[in-house]
Amino acid sequence: MKIIASNFKTNHTRKSTKQFIDEVNNHLLDNKIDNEVLIFPTATSLNEFNTVKNLSVGVQNAYNVQNGSFTGEIGTDQLDEFGVKTILIGHSERRHKLGESQKDIALKYNYYKALGYKIVYCIGEPLEVKELGLTETLGYIWEQFDGIDLDYDNLILAYEPVWAIGTGVVAKVEDIATIHKKIKKKIDKPLLYGGSVKPSNLEEILSIENVDGTLIGTSSWIVEDFKEMINITNKAGE
Ligand code: PEP
Repeated sequence: MKIIASNFKTNHTRKSTKQFIDEVNNHLLDNKIDNEVLIFPTATSLNEFNTVKNLSVGVQNAYNVQNGSFTGEIGTDQLDEFGVKTILIGHSERRHKLGESQKDIALKYNYYKALGYKIVYCIGEPLEVKELGLTETLGYIWEQFDGIDLDYDNLILAYEPVWAIGTGVVAKVEDIATIHKKIKKKIDKPLLYGGSVKPSNLEEILSIENVDGTLIGTSSWIVEDFKEMINITNKAGE
């Protein structure tokens, strides 16, 4: 069954997040949808959500620490308060806009792996690398696995070309197929595609071989659109 994930980035308030999650939860219940659904709200919107088993609320980021002096960060003491056990690591905005290095990312990955978190681990190349060709693109992606234990059971990968995130530019079907095939050949883990996915292109993207689901930003923030994409994901089957 295909997976669908929503990354809120810096959007929604505590109140609207709760409404969103309750509505998605009811939608899954009412329609008996069993697909795995992941929602990553802002840290300030964490709450005691009452969700069905296949709906997880995770964090977009947390520091690799239980608590301490790390101004602006949260650690597992704060996550435990809300029973959070799912984390997004390596998102391109954290790598490229916020300067997280592969070393930082690997430390974070190993910390949350040791605690058994479900990790959605993001990889993807910027445009200047893509333009150099497939070999360079794959070389860049493999480096994003430095220090990452790919045998970890609770791992989901997300291939998100940087140039397709939040830009409205979707990777071509052939490009997604090529990269996903290469990654899958090396790493046998669920592999999501992310980058300007929306209701009108989701069905086609899910039909590409080796695409096990999607990670969606912008077009997932309106609950009606997200519910529509959950339905499309559900229909896409195995
Ligand atoms: C993302 O944030 O992971 C993402 C894919 O964003 P968007 O759907 O807006 O491109």
